[in-house]
Amino acid sequence: MRIVVIGAGVVGVAAAWALRQAGADVIVLEAREGPALETSFANAGHLAVASGPWAAPDVPGKILRWLGREDAPLLLRLRWDPPLWRWGLKFLANCTASAYEQNARAIATLAQLSWNETTRLREELAIADDVNREGVLTLYRDPRDLETAEKKRDRLAAQGVAAEVLDRAALVAREPALASAAHRYAGALFSADAETADCRAFTLGLAAAAAERGVLFRFRTRVAEVLVEKGRACGVALEGGERVAADAVLLAAGPWSARLVQPLGLSLPIYPGKGYSVTVPIAGRNGAPRHAVIDEAHKVYIARFGQRLRIAGTLELGGFDPTPSPRRAAATLERLRSLFPDGGDFARAEYWTGLRPMTPDGRPLIGATPIPALWLNTGHGPLGWTLACGSALLVASLIASTPAPIDPTPFSPSRF
Ligand SMILES: Cc1cc2nc3c(=O)[nH]c(=O)nc-3n(C[C@H](O)[C@H](O)[C@H](O)COP(=O)(O)OP(=O)(O)OC[C@H]3O[C@@H](n4cnc5c(N)ncnc54)[C@H](O)[C@@H]3O)c2cc1C
Repeated sequence: MRIVVIGAGVVGVAAAWALRQAGADVIVLEAREGPALETSFANAGHLAVASGPWAAPDVPGKILRWLGREDAPLLLRLRWDPPLWRWGLKFLANCTASAYEQNARAIATLAQLSWNETTRLREELAIADDVNREGVLTLYRDPRDLETAEKKRDRLAAQGVAAEVLDRAALVAREPALASAAHRYAGALFSADAETADCRAFTLGLAAAAAERGVLFRFRTRVAEVLVEKGRACGVALEGGERVAADAVLLAAGPWSARLVQPLGLSLPIYPGKGYSVTVPIAGRNGAPRHAVIDEAHKVYIARFGQRLRIAGTLELGGFDPTPSPRRAAATLERLRSLFPDGGDFARAEYWTGLRPMTPDGRPLIGATPIPALWLNTGHGPLGWTLACGSALLVASLIASTPAPIDPTPFSPSRF
């Protein structure tokens, strides 16, 4: 079976690997000059097994409160954009407590599968991705939020994830690099069962291993159209006119996925959610944290990759333009500096923005489409690194008609 995978982000590369392992002939077509140069390039790196979707009960209120604030953690740019409004209504419908619970449960199952597979591949293929297993500290400002932390700890315990609520003194004892900023926080939730690693480095390592095992990568190759003959996907046409024939096509084009299949009459509920990251070299400074850190109030995630420190996060809904807002970029760097004033050489900061492929319920779209032989593995939103290797196993099993490693129903594209 010859399969074309569109997109060489972490999701497409992981799927190409899994499909090759299942015995397929795989060709990956990627518009950019190498793997992981779009959304998988400089994300926060959290393998966030215990994360829920962004659509949560407290989110609509926050978005309204923050409307028009340029440095808001969640920024909705109000404009005439029918896809955004259609997507937004579905997102709001997923902000109820029961939808949140249901979505979070489905994501957790896929995340656990993915974590096991990511760990296995890292070890088996000796991929150097600066994995950090010191655990994650989620910071809370208000003493009342520690009750939320306690509830989260109990929920995690039910999932088999160990976590501990720390007061301010215990927080500083665990992470002395937070000493100068700790007075702003009431405490934290510490989870040892969480890790961070460099998504791009992993993707490059996995792509190299896949190429060695026969996956063909074609870079600087933009797919213009998915070809359908007699109602069935039969390959793709490239920009310039060349046709690449295939028995099946797997769409893993991240935030650009919806555009590619729209001409076929498919409407995928994926909207780009812009996020920022800033990476600084630690450069011998003494104040970089050992742990990964999450500041819930500002929706930012901090990770240490060897001798680099990165802060990433925030969400901006306003279309496909990747141009950074200078104010948001500066605010992101300031958050890092205010937490870890001696954490790195801030003068050498590297700024980046990426577009998360967001679905309204936070669950990716994995599975068949109404067009036979056209498959989806996309819409991983804020959790593509966390979910990529598990999604790859799932979609490969569906395409090969072998037993699925987990129930695929919650991820079926037909739910929309
Ligand atoms: C600021 C930020 C922080 C994040 N932090 C985390 C985190 O801590 N943990 C986590 O799990 N996730 C995180 N994410 C989310 C994660 O980065 C994404 O979910 C993931 O990278 C999506 O991967 P992908 O392969 O689907 O998309 P991409 O990496 O964007 O890959 C899609 C590829 O398809 C290619 N393509 C598109 N159209 C075509 C075409 N027509 N022809 C050929 N190729 C095409 C693109 O060039 C691109 O390379 C974060 C994202 C952001 C923005």
